[in-house]
Amino acid sequence: MDTLTLVKLADDGTSLVLNWSDGVSQQIPWATLRKECPCAVCNVEREQPPAKVNPLAVIDVVQTRPIRPTALRPVGNYAYAISFSDGHSSGIFSLATLRRIGEASAGTAPR
Ligand SMILES: [Zn+2]
Repeated sequence: MDTLTLVKLADDGTSLVLNWSDGVSQQIPWATLRKECPCAVCNVEREQPPAKVNPLAVIDVVQTRPIRPTALRPVGNYAYAISFSDGHSSGIFSLATLRRIGEASAGTAPR
C-alpha cells in the first residue's frame, strides 16, 4: 500500500476519478470528499452530535449548491490539497486517505 501511486487524476464533473498504479480505478463524489475532509476543523465538526443541528436554521445558499472543487494542488508527492466551492481549503488528502475514502464509497456510488 505504501508504494501506491496515482497514474491519473481527473474531474468527471461530479466526482474525482483516481487511477492507481495497481490498476484500481476509483470515483469519489466531490461531496463525499468534502464530508471526509481530514483537516482539524472538520474533525471537530464531525464529533459534534447531530442533535445540535437546528432544523429551522436558514440554509446558507452556498450549501444548496452542489459542492465543487476550485483547486487541487499536489503537496509533495504524497498528498493533494483540495479547495472547495464553499470556501473550505484546509484539507490535505494524503494518497492513503483518498484510497480509503474511495474504497469506503465504492459500494454506494452509482454505476
Ligand atoms: Zn476540513
